Amino acid sequence: MNNVTRRAFLGAASAATGANLMPEPSHSTTRDDLERFPADTTPLFDAVRRLVDETPFVDTHVHFWKESVRVHSVREKDRSLPAPDFGGMLLSHYTDSDLLVSGMPESDYKQLLAWDVAPRDKWRLVAPWYARCRHTGYLQCLRETLRRLFDVDDLHENTCESISTAIAEHTVPGFYKRVLREAANIEYAHVNCLQSTLFREDEQSEMLAVDLSINPLCVPPNLDVLSKLLEKAPTTLDDARRAIDVCFERYGNKAIAIKSQCAYWRNLDFPRSSVADVAPLFARYVADEALTDAEHHALQGHLFHYCMEKAAEYRLPVKLHTGYYAGHNSMPLARVRNNLSDLCPTLLAHPKVTFVLFHIAYPYQDEAVALAKQYSNVYVDMCWTWIINPAASVRFLKEFLMAAPACKIFTFGGDFLPVEMSVGHAAIARKGVTQALCELTREQWLEESHLPALVERIMRGNARECFDFERTRG
Ligand SMILES: [Zn+2]
Repeated sequence: MNNVTRRAFLGAASAATGANLMPEPSHSTTRDDLERFPADTTPLFDAVRRLVDETPFVDTHVHFWKESVRVHSVREKDRSLPAPDFGGMLLSHYTDSDLLVSGMPESDYKQLLAWDVAPRDKWRLVAPWYARCRHTGYLQCLRETLRRLFDVDDLHENTCESISTAIAEHTVPGFYKRVLREAANIEYAHVNCLQSTLFREDEQSEMLAVDLSINPLCVPPNLDVLSKLLEKAPTTLDDARRAIDVCFERYGNKAIAIKSQCAYWRNLDFPRSSVADVAPLFARYVADEALTDAEHHALQGHLFHYCMEKAAEYRLPVKLHTGYYAGHNSMPLARVRNNLSDLCPTLLAHPKVTFVLFHIAYPYQDEAVALAKQYSNVYVDMCWTWIINPAASVRFLKEFLMAAPACKIFTFGGDFLPVEMSVGHAAIARKGVTQALCELTREQWLEESHLPALVERIMRGNARECFDFERTRG
């Protein structure tokens, strides 16, 4: 653990309570902190930056592999994960999209993940493409991670080997806690498991809570999953609803929230059809008969709404992917553009359910501000967005705070598979939160004396109010 990393974790007590924003002498900040923020050394900026650096984030959305899987992969050379080097761990998620879109050949990109390619050879493949996209949020996130975890300023021919060695060496039991708490100053994180169907019980810990993924229950219903829940094959709509009951009985008190990323494969209007209308459709679905698109929509909508009723019963916030798609060469913009207007009937139908709009619906964040302002049950989560577009995220946060109640925003979710990149993402987010609050204060929209309470609220207080972490821990 280097000095930069240790310094990032200074404890939250003073930030949570201090109402006095007058800056302490700047000698208490260090040279490389100032290098990260060279443009502004005014007392206001210095004070806000200190406050934001010292306040822990609750990270409301990540996809981490299990720590034990990471450790096993290194120890046993298990190649089911990407190589434990700079290519496999630091360029494999999100960053890959910018590299490929800038022109890197797919075949060369695959070499970055491989176990049998030396770091210097990987660097030779990626260097021209890294140069082309080094200014994007994804690559800035990479460099913040390098600085804070590995004490290295940039990726190049002379650092790629030492970074790779450090990644393999730090992958030992307990390293998630060290990375998240000490290097990223994260209080705890919400895991959305991409690798399992509904829930991952063994992942829970003092650092991690887990989302319940409802996609296999409804959009579309996965008959194997329903069968496992019921311990028999479902034949009727009543069976499907009973399977959903069982799922919530099993996981409802253990989950931190509900998650659905069905916006990746369907639009977000969910018709609320009656049992009488949908029962025959489910019978045909089970019999593998063809359904029209409208019939599929009716069936999925019915089961989705049933899940929303369970969400209300178990008081679980519902996190929905909205806006921009991960990956590349795949996003149907017309569907994305309609995400939030499609959702409105569902928001109205379940006033007791808290809906969390992920990723600020980027690039339609104005609509997200409007919904959070208009609907009492709508919250917005900035997970992933700081690195999709840092400048737009600053703009969004400023406008959100001017329009909607400050209790309705979550300002950080790292959203990565590799835990290491949380560190850089949290640094980018802190820089953006600092910039947004300083600009609003200078423009005389915010009062300086209110900043400590506001920082505490938007970085973790709202998450503490909205998500019941204690309940998930039994
Ligand atoms: Zn995600």
